Amino acid sequence: MGNGFHVQDRFAGGAQYIGGKLRSGTSGRHHEVVNPATGETVYRYELAGTEDVDAAVAAAAAAFPGWSGATPGERSDVMYRFATELAGQADDLAYAESLQCGKPIKLSTGFDVPGTVDNTAFFAGAARHLEGKAAAEYDGDHTSYVRREAIGVIGSIAPWNYPLQMAAWKVLPAIAAGNTIVLKPAETTPVTSLMFAQAATVAGIPDGVINIVTGAGRDAGEHLVGHPDVVMTSFTGSTAVGRRVAEIATSTVKRLHLELGGKAPFLVFDDADLEAAVNGAVAGSLINTGQDCTAATRAYVQRPLYDAFVRDVAALMETVRLGDPFDPSTDLGPLISHAHRDRVAAVIERARAYATVVTGGEAPGGGLRDGAYYRPTLVADAAQDSEIVQSEIFGPVLVVLPFDTDDEGIALANDTPYGLAASAWTRDLYRANRATREIKAGCVWVNDHIPIISEMPHGGYKASGFGKDMSAYSFEEYTQVKHVMYDNSAVARKDWHRTIFGDR
Ligand code: NAD
Repeated sequence: MGNGFHVQDRFAGGAQYIGGKLRSGTSGRHHEVVNPATGETVYRYELAGTEDVDAAVAAAAAAFPGWSGATPGERSDVMYRFATELAGQADDLAYAESLQCGKPIKLSTGFDVPGTVDNTAFFAGAARHLEGKAAAEYDGDHTSYVRREAIGVIGSIAPWNYPLQMAAWKVLPAIAAGNTIVLKPAETTPVTSLMFAQAATVAGIPDGVINIVTGAGRDAGEHLVGHPDVVMTSFTGSTAVGRRVAEIATSTVKRLHLELGGKAPFLVFDDADLEAAVNGAVAGSLINTGQDCTAATRAYVQRPLYDAFVRDVAALMETVRLGDPFDPSTDLGPLISHAHRDRVAAVIERARAYATVVTGGEAPGGGLRDGAYYRPTLVADAAQDSEIVQSEIFGPVLVVLPFDTDDEGIALANDTPYGLAASAWTRDLYRANRATREIKAGCVWVNDHIPIISEMPHGGYKASGFGKDMSAYSFEEYTQVKHVMYDNSAVARKDWHRTIFGDR
């Protein structure tokens, strides 16, 4: 794809977007955005310091009265224009997302960008659908109703794996409900978050409603979470960092929404359509080079199908085409960085001591040598309590284990600290119903794995966090409900006062 723009030129003004303007960070420390397919630096910028976070929070606070005071219809109108603006920039957004993440361009154009545009249009509509209990005289003497109100300035922190979609998931429900926001993208992947915020300004979203601070987690991130003028923290990232974020947010009494790690099981019963399950396992485990919190990571296959499943998944993985992310025929791009690729490779090397690497388990050579590539990898014969089964690897790695009874399969599926997503593969309605009921995860697919839609919630159980992204449910996160109660008696001495003073 040769029609891309020059990131350094476009963001020469800096990687902070505060009050509708790009500016440089003031931390004195610089960061390089590296194309993981080539190892080349595509953007060098100064990281945000605590003063930049303060400025962004001040800009968001200044914008809050006007934005929260706009009618839902006014917010909706401008958000529809935002969706149109993003759609108009689809090629540039896809290019930038592939450049900074190494994603195959067919994934950026087919998933990341249209998903973001759809999410924006969804929340433009949702802005007009704030819901609550009907006003009524619930005790006979008073009229009660609820107001669903914006909360204030939201501080959000996002990971590097889907930078554009994560910006959308964090920003859109917050602003649709009338809040203003400061988003900190991952330092490795700020480009499309900045483009997203700029597109909002072009569409007419007022300055200060969406602010971006691009800084390191330890200083800019923690400062944002602890900031006294930030009323809510919404964090997507690893469970380890989520714990730290929770400590700071709790000590400053903030609302908290945590979208954390995953280790999704892929449960194949013996009546499943084998070909569908094999295709689903390869697509579900390799999406975004396995750097997806809902990716299929643990396949449990009932014994009669086990050998055929292992054989066919390995064969299909070997057909997956690694290559230049901008080649439309490339199926699998590099991992986000060489350091992350080396972490994934180290897990596989340790696994060789206790398991069998059926296919993959190495970096490709040749023309891909300079990129952070790793071959699709299938691992068998690992114990349930081993590292490869229990910990999040975030790479193109699937581990496969057999099971005998349905009880055992469901128990194994639930046997990690995580609970973000899962899938069950069967043609038996009763088995499917049982699996969807008993698997502890925020999403359970039946006979598929990965699709998401704007109308439905995304969020975890257990150590995968709490709260929901996307859907009308995310409005619950970003609004607060106020009970308003009017006395209808107009008498000075109310009957209930006798419980406090005097007699009837
Ligand atoms: P990470 O936890 O290392 O970083 C996430 C963000 O937190 C980054 O912006 C980082 O700069 C910031 N951060 C780091 N330390 C911080 C601190 N002390 N205080 C405040 N902020 C801090 O995660 P990552 O490596 O960027 O992303 C991968 C992880 O994200 C995986 O665990 C994956 O499962 C998870 N994830 C979850 C979801 C979901 O919806 N549940 C979606 C995508 C990714």
